Amino acid sequence: MSPGKAGLATGASERDELLADLLAHGRFLGTLSSVGVAWPPPGVEAGPVPSAATARLEDPAAALAAIREEMGDCRRCRLASGRHTIVFGQGNPHAELMFVGEAPGAEEDQQGLAFVGRAGQLLTDIIEKGLKMRRADVWIGNILKCRPPQNRNPEPDEVLACQPFLEAQIRAIRPRVLVGLGKFGAHWLLKTAEPITRLRGRVGEYEGIPVMPTYHPAYLLRNPAGKKDVWEDMKVVLRLLGRPVPGD
Ligand code: URA
Repeated sequence: MSPGKAGLATGASERDELLADLLAHGRFLGTLSSVGVAWPPPGVEAGPVPSAATARLEDPAAALAAIREEMGDCRRCRLASGRHTIVFGQGNPHAELMFVGEAPGAEEDQQGLAFVGRAGQLLTDIIEKGLKMRRADVWIGNILKCRPPQNRNPEPDEVLACQPFLEAQIRAIRPRVLVGLGKFGAHWLLKTAEPITRLRGRVGEYEGIPVMPTYHPAYLLRNPAGKKDVWEDMKVVLRLLGRPVPGD
């Protein structure tokens, strides 16, 4: 944030930005509890959400733009040094359905778009051939916005640094249904460490939004037999969305 933004002559849009900054910071402080730091401190109530920021958050596209701006040329974790592009996620800001993956791979890092490699192709098939929805009508994103080296698993401190942005994205989009792709997507949304083999197919919840955990498309590329389970999961997603389910 530039020093001038907090000045007295701050305009309405700058004030919105400032409030969005404060909200993102507040969310970050909230995540500290998961690493054993109590926030807010005992006896202190979190204040109400400032109304200007709330108004802005009522416009999903504007809210997403503000989140992207807040992210800037992010250097909040070590992944910044090895990435080519930040992969913010993409799709319809008004999406009814949102997919949450793990982190960008090589192709995503090059293109700056989530799920555009081989796993992304399979995800497109799941959306377009299975769910009979357009890929452009859903939102596709990841927990981490930068590619981990050699596609290694996300480290806890990287998740902690990046998650306020995903939290803010979910609040901005407010999808009707969330799909957690693979262990990382499912664990993050459901705040559990249960194996994905036990989680998949069972609807959970994230801030009041139904969550369907399912296998990651990259896993399906190696284990195509899992596709029938994913199709069962997608049928539940269609039912949650009130859409027609083939064969019902
Ligand atoms: N795997 C993910 O989890 N996300 C991507 O964007 C691509 C592959």
